[in-house]
Amino acid sequence: MENLGLNQIRRKYLEFFESKQHLLLDSYSLVPKNDKSLLLINAGMAPLKPYFTGLMVPPSKRVTTCQKCIRTGDIDNVGKTSRHGTFFEMLGNFSFGDYFKKEAITWAYEFFTKEINMPEESLFVTIYLDDDEAYDIWVNQVGFNKDRIFRLGKEDNFWEHGSGPCGPCSEIHFAKEKITINSAEEFQKAADEDKIIEVWNLVFTQFDKDDDGNYNKLKFPNIDTGMGLERLATVIQDVPNIFEIDTMKSILNQVCKISGACYGQNKETDVSIRIITDHIRSITFMISDGILPSNEGRGYVLRRLLRRASRHGRLLGIKGIFLDKLSQSVIDNSKDYYKELLGRSDYIKKVVRLEEERFNQTIDTGIIILMDYIKEIEEKGEDTLSGENSFKLYDTYGFPIELTEEILEEKGLKIDKPGFNKEMKLQKERARNARNKSNYMGADISLADMIPSDVNTVFTGYENIQSSSRVILIIKDDEYAEELNQGEKGIIITESTPFYGEMGGQIGDSGLIYSNSFNGIIIDTKKNISGKTYHIVEAKEGKLLSDGVVTLQVSEERRNSICKNHTATHMLQEALIEVLGSHVHQSGSYVDEFKLRFDFTNMSPMTPEEIKKAENLVNQNIMKAYKVSTEEMSLEEAKASGAMALFDEKYKDKVRVVSVGNYSRELCGGTHVNNSGEIGLFKILSEQGVASGIRRIEAITGFNAIKHIEDTSSIIKDLQRDLKCTDKDITAKVKQMEQNIKFYEKEIESLKLKITSSKEKDIVENVIKIKDINVAHGTFKDTDINLLRSLGDKIKDKIKSGLVILGSNNEGKAVFIAMATKDVIGRGIHCGKIVKEAASFAGGNGGGKPDMAQAGGKDGEMVESAIDKALSIIESLVK
Ligand code: ATP
Ligand code: MG
Repeated sequence: MENLGLNQIRRKYLEFFESKQHLLLDSYSLVPKNDKSLLLINAGMAPLKPYFTGLMVPPSKRVTTCQKCIRTGDIDNVGKTSRHGTFFEMLGNFSFGDYFKKEAITWAYEFFTKEINMPEESLFVTIYLDDDEAYDIWVNQVGFNKDRIFRLGKEDNFWEHGSGPCGPCSEIHFAKEKITINSAEEFQKAADEDKIIEVWNLVFTQFDKDDDGNYNKLKFPNIDTGMGLERLATVIQDVPNIFEIDTMKSILNQVCKISGACYGQNKETDVSIRIITDHIRSITFMISDGILPSNEGRGYVLRRLLRRASRHGRLLGIKGIFLDKLSQSVIDNSKDYYKELLGRSDYIKKVVRLEEERFNQTIDTGIIILMDYIKEIEEKGEDTLSGENSFKLYDTYGFPIELTEEILEEKGLKIDKPGFNKEMKLQKERARNARNKSNYMGADISLADMIPSDVNTVFTGYENIQSSSRVILIIKDDEYAEELNQGEKGIIITESTPFYGEMGGQIGDSGLIYSNSFNGIIIDTKKNISGKTYHIVEAKEGKLLSDGVVTLQVSEERRNSICKNHTATHMLQEALIEVLGSHVHQSGSYVDEFKLRFDFTNMSPMTPEEIKKAENLVNQNIMKAYKVSTEEMSLEEAKASGAMALFDEKYKDKVRVVSVGNYSRELCGGTHVNNSGEIGLFKILSEQGVASGIRRIEAITGFNAIKHIEDTSSIIKDLQRDLKCTDKDITAKVKQMEQNIKFYEKEIESLKLKITSSKEKDIVENVIKIKDINVAHGTFKDTDINLLRSLGDKIKDKIKSGLVILGSNNEGKAVFIAMATKDVIGRGIHCGKIVKEAASFAGGNGGGKPDMAQAGGKDGEMVESAIDKALSIIESLVK
């Protein structure tokens, strides 16, 4: 075999299939679109699902791709087996109802033996148990040695995923060394022992499995093949594992250089080196596709991978952060095919750096908490950290469990592992329950998403807002229907429509739909998975028939407001780049008739000056009255002209570019004003963080902005009138008032204190004797039980021997306390009994111990007579 670099192998494969009339498509983003069943793209066919199911028409019946993939399920294999990474590239050739088994097998064989010159003796093939058709092709048409073909069961050689398209597959394996295999059992053993490596999987999608488990033959079967590019390179370059192929080796060498570790000398060290080499690839590509570290979903996968890589760096003895440097290696190795990496390299490294710094802080915090736990355990004379606490460290503080174990071990302690596992299991169950139920096509697909691919709707709304068209489909309660009657709600699809369906962050249009015999309202307009526009309609009068002709009329005022906000969003992005720098990328946007919301990448909050500057820039360019124009062009032309594109968007060949004079150029399918001057005015309402590294601006335009300013100025006028000052003095005046209030509050506090202490003095001076026992008593207004108690303590100290009973009418409610010195308790005094009596007089209850008791009642007015009553009880108690 000729020794080829990974980038050359990729080209060879794709060119081979281009020569077999396949259309080469770029890799899709790692973030799935319209597919809730997947967190991350994990195979070449995953982003092509709608073509397989017929929901969308493919741009060609034969397609070939090299697709970025992430499989977190393989994480525990990484570094341990020779063939697994969390990130890898999958080569694939696909047929959507075009060629089938014969071509797929013959071309695979041709590619291996003719293009790559792989020796046939090192190849093994597996097929599904009863797939005689595949067997016949391999043996009789290709001429493959039948002794090296094995039939395996459903688990290995049948591809299915819930219901939907499925079928048998044929896998091609490569043996690194000469090996004889005599049976399927021996084959499986050799695979488990890593002696042979699965390289290519050819899936023959020939059935459609229904919900009852029946396999129905597909009229147009499909081909889906997948071959790991790194595995193919491992074979071609004759290296022991994927980590030692040219591109990955250069990252691996960089890991060794930074850490000073030597590769190939110690098993554990090697595993750490390989884990870092793999994870940094996932990390770099995920961030490049717009994913940011967070605590859920994809963001959490990214965070976990980054933390794991960082921790293995620590294990190798690396001090401080290092992953951003490695990211650069990944970019250098992959930038030729994945061109998006280049423009995003600074951004990617910044995100990596910030997250790794944060993780280092996490480790430091975790160690402090762990030290507290250890102290607790040692004080109790135990030797085990509870499952609960170790899980809390791991889950809440993100502290790696191995590190916990390591530190405990140093102190002769251990973790309650079963307890930890139990917590982990509970957590997983919680996560599983939270996830959407899903099937092959993603969760809960509705009929509107399944509109047949030959039904077409044309959008005419760039030019006009009213037009007539024929109704093609009516859907009522998720069923196709023939008519929509007065009072009913349904989905209507027309041949053409001026209504914009919600897309690209722009809200859908609303308006009217009518004919001679029908009147209805279009509440909302949306696009389904395959981009067809549908209207959500409420029938007001008459009857709408499928096949009838209707007039569709977009609400003009609302549309105009939406257009103003959308064009302003483009101008804002340009202004933000000017004020903050070229790292600003759109990460989301939302535009409706009221306001616009723009999310963008920026590491820190904007200062008030920056906000003002951006706002002014937008307004200046509004006033320049730029013409807004749109052009259709190829994606290459658009990019060459400097048009901004969305981070992880997949664009068609022909794209629409919206330009605001020379100021802004952006790929966009939305509706816009004709001239920037129409926006009138732009006003930023807020700037805040929404996720780490993502900021959000909310702003308004046109009459909404004018109204906002009118409202604010009328508030100012009211204030001026109430405060009796000019607008410029309002702030000073309010500050002055605040100071005054603080001053008065203090004054009131000190007066209250004076009143109570003079009252306290009064009470002490007016102690009475009941059968020679000192009794101090008194009542207060609006003194709460706590203050009453501390007053009681003070009085008790002063009278040295005796009983204190105090009551308060506290905001309408009665409260009492009684306390007594030890000597008088011996004489029969019982505070509990005394306050109980007093409280019952004030409509309440209470009690307590002989030396101290408190009680309350609902009748605050009765406090004084209640105290008198208490005094008479005392007399009867004393012995
Ligand atoms: P394995 O059993 O080795 O994990 P698989 O059966 O999961 O492989 P498929 O789902 O058939 O693999 O994927 C198609 C091809 O993608 C495989 O033949 C292999 O070349 C490649 N591949 C799959 N998983 C990985 C991985 N984790 N790292 C690198 N390549 C992979
Ligand atoms: Mg696998």
